[in-house]
Amino acid sequence: MTSANVTDTPLLQIGALTKRFGGFTALDNVSVDIRPGERFGLIGPNGSGKTTLINCISGAFRTEPGTVTFQGEDITPLPPYMRRRRGIARSFQIPRPFKSMTVAENLMVALDFAGAAHELVSAAERRAAVMAILQQTGLSSKADAPATRLSQVELRKMELARAVATRPKLLISDEAMAGLSSSEVDEVLDLLMSLAGKDITIIMIEHIMQAVMRFSERIMCLDAGRIIAIGKPAEVMANARVQEAYLGT
Ligand code: ADP
Ligand code: MG
Repeated sequence: MTSANVTDTPLLQIGALTKRFGGFTALDNVSVDIRPGERFGLIGPNGSGKTTLINCISGAFRTEPGTVTFQGEDITPLPPYMRRRRGIARSFQIPRPFKSMTVAENLMVALDFAGAAHELVSAAERRAAVMAILQQTGLSSKADAPATRLSQVELRKMELARAVATRPKLLISDEAMAGLSSSEVDEVLDLLMSLAGKDITIIMIEHIMQAVMRFSERIMCLDAGRIIAIGKPAEVMANARVQEAYLGT
């Protein structure tokens, strides 16, 4: 990337973020900038604070102290729905589909949630928008299937599709691959790779090292709420503190 590129302005800036639960410090003075379009991997042993950090970015948790800046705007005081409207979407570790609905209906809810209902007035337009996302995520053939009929990997894809329907600028994937077979991991990885680009920045939290290594341009490793390494995948993996943190679990 050239030095005088406008994309040098970070999309997301985490500033000296600390999160305590009672006397326990889950995040300790975490600062990081993520650039637009970046594929960013977040790793760390269980309990190191990864999901807590995501909760602070999405607004589910209040930060105390610390700041979250998105596209130059301080969003620290904003509740989750206002952050979503600004383009921050997350997919959950455990998929939460509306079980009584079809796949297309599940996406429709996400679309409406993002406020697209105002722009896509007709039912046909809304259906077309949903079908485009299902196409993009490899679920076209399942559009009218009940969500309960999806396999595990299809559920993970629908989870990502629902996030895409909210038109995210930042998509956070929290262990979307846990429990999948290696070929299914590749499918979800390919999907995330295809979604990432200049319009969508992705933070991937993942325990499957092969996947996070392949995906990420940069990886950050947390241990006990602190950043112990950040940089290129190979550098982070070679880091002695990272290796120790993983051996210790
Ligand atoms: P990770 O996602 O890296 O496995 P988490 O961010 O979920 O870790 O958790 C970090 C630490 O914070 C853990 O010790 C966890 O028990 C604690 N924690 C997370 N959420 C809460 C909460 N809502 N209340 C109390 N402790 C929490
Ligand atoms: Mg977690």
